[in-house]
Amino acid sequence: MTSANTKRLQVAICGAGIGGLTFALALSRYPDIDIEIYESARALTEVGAGIGIFPRPWKVIKMLGLEADLLQVTETAIVDGPVSGFRYRKSDQYEGKDFFTLVTQGSLMLFHRADYQQTLLNHLPKRCRTHCSKRLRSYTQRQSGPIELSFEDGTIASCDVLVGADGVKSAVRAGVLGEKARWAKGEGRWKEAAEILQHVDPIWSGANAYRALIPAQKLQAIAPNHQVLHTPGVQYLGKQGYILAYRISGGKFVNLVAFVVQHHLENTTFNGPWMSTVDVSAFSSTFTHWEPDVQILLSCVEKPMQWAIHTVRPMQSFVSGRVALLGDAAHSMTPHQGSGAGQAIEDACILAAVLGHPSTDRTNVAQRALRVYDSIRCPYAYRVMEASRINGRYFTLRLDEDGTIDIDKLPPKQQWEYLQRLGHAIVKNWEWTWTTSIDTALQEALRMLEG
Ligand SMILES: Cc1cc2nc3c(=O)[nH]c(=O)nc-3n(C[C@H](O)[C@H](O)[C@H](O)COP(=O)(O)OP(=O)(O)OC[C@H]3O[C@@H](n4cnc5c(N)ncnc54)[C@H](O)[C@@H]3O)c2cc1C
Repeated sequence: MTSANTKRLQVAICGAGIGGLTFALALSRYPDIDIEIYESARALTEVGAGIGIFPRPWKVIKMLGLEADLLQVTETAIVDGPVSGFRYRKSDQYEGKDFFTLVTQGSLMLFHRADYQQTLLNHLPKRCRTHCSKRLRSYTQRQSGPIELSFEDGTIASCDVLVGADGVKSAVRAGVLGEKARWAKGEGRWKEAAEILQHVDPIWSGANAYRALIPAQKLQAIAPNHQVLHTPGVQYLGKQGYILAYRISGGKFVNLVAFVVQHHLENTTFNGPWMSTVDVSAFSSTFTHWEPDVQILLSCVEKPMQWAIHTVRPMQSFVSGRVALLGDAAHSMTPHQGSGAGQAIEDACILAAVLGHPSTDRTNVAQRALRVYDSIRCPYAYRVMEASRINGRYFTLRLDEDGTIDIDKLPPKQQWEYLQRLGHAIVKNWEWTWTTSIDTALQEALRMLEG
């Protein structure tokens, strides 16, 4: 880092995904904090796919001054009151059945990821220096003095605070857990040390996501009345998986994600690449008997990307000394609530507020600011993670954990009642995003810090 010791704090951010960049932007509001971003990729790019941001994290986006620019790249209008969102259908049969519409309090904002990332980059001040091709290998922190960062290219850097925003395979998380395990071993707590180290490797959720962007014109030409073209979005549900489709980029593309879910393989090891370009045949067999609307969508898919959905085991803390985790590095969750990035955005907001607070400096940051961040964000993000896991079950038409009730064996009236119960359960599981507020969390963080 260049401006050694002239700033109140020198913060290094490892990873320039949505979490790292949002955090950098939030922290850049404090001119006496030095910010360096280290990213392993050669350039900052985003996957060609959509992203939805729910009302709670949207508040943060508004606070960061991104709202006006983001509204230029979405069809979604901001509504503060009740707004009809995705429609839910039972689709694993020839005649699909609409059974519920998700009504949220406040809009679910839908974007192309690249547009979202570009907006963040446009707002990021130059003083947040981004270093690409810098893959962190490990770090070393002592009781006092700077934290030393070692990169795969043999270079080193230092900082007062290290923020690991380096995604599900986080090197920083491995470092944090390694430190905690060493301390436990040092005190003779061998079993605990072994348990801590089990959290390093991510685990497969049993689900694979197949993502594709369909040009809306292509769908329009085949099926001008297709419901995805005329609604905020549709979720086609079945027992083996589900498909989510909604328009992005001002209606130019349809974002399609097909999930193939094998609940019995949850928490096992996935064999094969976590991310790869595949052929439609890699997943279409799951959906062959589904309703015609689904077949039309699948006929439009070209070169889908397969993502093996991995999560992390919940840890006791996101923090070790002056090192903190954020986003997927801390709480990689299934995407069934569309909230992983939203939670990274919330982390960014709270962490920036406590680090930026005028009372925080390099001597007290570990004991005060990072502890406050941890106590606010760790339990909350893990609750969302669990809610997301439960949604994954609901979206495969299972109300109970074991899937003991086979919906297809129920008589029509009971099946309809079951679907209604399912719809209500989905809303109940999701309502935290509009019944709770990031403002409350922020106030609580500042109260704890000042108290
Ligand atoms: C199919 C699918 C759909 C989703 N839909 C939604 C949605 O609608 N809404 C939502 O909120 N969330 C959604 N998510 C979740 C969301 O994409 C993630 O939670 C979010 O992108 C995490 O951001 P992040 O910055 O924490 O991590 P990442 O985006 O993984 O970024 C990590 C960055 O760190 C870099 N990096 C990694 N290792 C190192 C290293 N050692 N040194 C330096 N840099 C490193 C990486 O190159 C990367 O740029 C979805 C996820 C999936 C898979």
